[in-house]
Amino acid sequence: MYFLHREVKIMPWMIPTVLKNLFSGPATVKYPFEKKDPVPEMRGKLTWDMTNCDLCHDCERLCPVGAIVVDEEQKKITYDPFLCIYCRKCAENCFHKCIVVSVEYHEPNVKKGTLVFEKEEVPAEIT
Ligand code: SF4
Ligand code: SF4
Repeated sequence: MYFLHREVKIMPWMIPTVLKNLFSGPATVKYPFEKKDPVPEMRGKLTWDMTNCDLCHDCERLCPVGAIVVDEEQKKITYDPFLCIYCRKCAENCFHKCIVVSVEYHEPNVKKGTLVFEKEEVPAEIT
C-alpha cells in the first residue's frame, strides 16, 4: 500500500516527460534499414596510396601492434586490419601522407586476413 501511495505521488512529476516523449520523434534510428552518418573523426578503414611511398619503414616501426610489414624487395606493404587498433599513429607520421584513414569500417568477418598494397613500378625516364 505504501508503494502505491508513493507511485501516485510521483506521477505528476512524470507527466511532462511522458508528454514530451509522446510527441517528440524517436531517439533511435531503425537500424539496419536506416544508418546514421559516421562522425567525421571516426577512425575507420586504412588504405595505402602507394604513389609516393618510399618504403621507409616508418609506419612499420611506429605501429604498436605490428600490423604493418613493409617489404622493400617486393615493393609492397602488408597490413593486418585484425591486429590494427586504429590508433592512426602510422597515418599521422607518414612523411608522404600515403596512409588514408576513411570513415568506413571493416565489416565483421569470420576469416582473418591481410591487405596488400603494392607499389607499381615507375618506368625509368628516357634520357
Ligand atoms: S606508407 Fe609512409 S611511412 Fe609507410 S613506408 Fe610508405 S612512406 Fe614510409
Ligand atoms: S592505425 Fe595504429 S595500429 Fe593500426 S596500423 Fe596504424 S599504427 Fe598500427
